[in-house]
Amino acid sequence: MIKNSTLTRAMTEDGSVRIVCADTTAIVRRAHEIHKTSKTMTAALGRCLTVTSLMGSLLKDDTDTITLQLKGDGPAGTIICVSDYKGNVRGYAEDCSVELPPNDLGKLDVGGAVGSGSLGIIRDFGSGEPYVGISPIVTGEIGDDISEYYATSEQTPTVCALGVRANTDNSPKAAGGFLLQLLPGADEALIPQIEKNVTSLGSVSKLIEVGHTPAEIIEMVFEGIPFDYFDEIDIAYTCTCERDKYKRALVSMSEADIAEIVSDGKPIETECRFCHQKYVFTGEEILAARKDMKK
Ligand SMILES: [Zn+2]
Repeated sequence: MIKNSTLTRAMTEDGSVRIVCADTTAIVRRAHEIHKTSKTMTAALGRCLTVTSLMGSLLKDDTDTITLQLKGDGPAGTIICVSDYKGNVRGYAEDCSVELPPNDLGKLDVGGAVGSGSLGIIRDFGSGEPYVGISPIVTGEIGDDISEYYATSEQTPTVCALGVRANTDNSPKAAGGFLLQLLPGADEALIPQIEKNVTSLGSVSKLIEVGHTPAEIIEMVFEGIPFDYFDEIDIAYTCTCERDKYKRALVSMSEADIAEIVSDGKPIETECRFCHQKYVFTGEEILAARKDMKK
């Protein structure tokens, strides 16, 4: 029995440091079912989904969304993940079947699958211009890349720990991570203690595998530092695709293109990249929708 994925938020009592920590095993398991990820890609996509959910939980308004766009030149191709403000997340990689031999450390070679390139973070606030930040991919191991992004693009010192452990059938055994941030005016004296705690933690996915909750992991990170829990929320792999959205996109095609489809008599099939749901439309349906729109 797989527990729901959960995310816990907390802050030091003096407001210096905030942390969000999640057990994303169920989310990564769902992604594995949808995308049939290889072992390496279970880890690569799993880490991206985890951190996107963590970043999503830091958004303020219920219409806000955040998109992680990892554009590497490795065999995985581009990886895209999107989260809402409650940490519900969806994602895909261009090639989810990439399998590589373990890296020099004997770990799943996520960095090799991702390659080098750029990491883009897009915050969409429902209306107006989205905020876009870009930084170079450092190692492709995702956690390092996110820390680098926050340091260079948002000047926020951040520790990002992410981990996914896979079973022999490539499905995830345990997945999760945390994002810890020093807030403006933070008490620098806390840093050595936090560094010490984080170093002695070991791997987050190992902690989750042996049954530790996000709240317990936060307790370990803040060992010796007074802190308060903010809340604990359920998070899930959630796709937001709708037949109508695809229809609207098709309606915006040129009249000539639509006419060609109608004369072919073949239906148009679209497929959601996040959940593989298929939507089928006839040319007549698109044409009728276009006429309705012009009224
Ligand atoms: Zn979908």
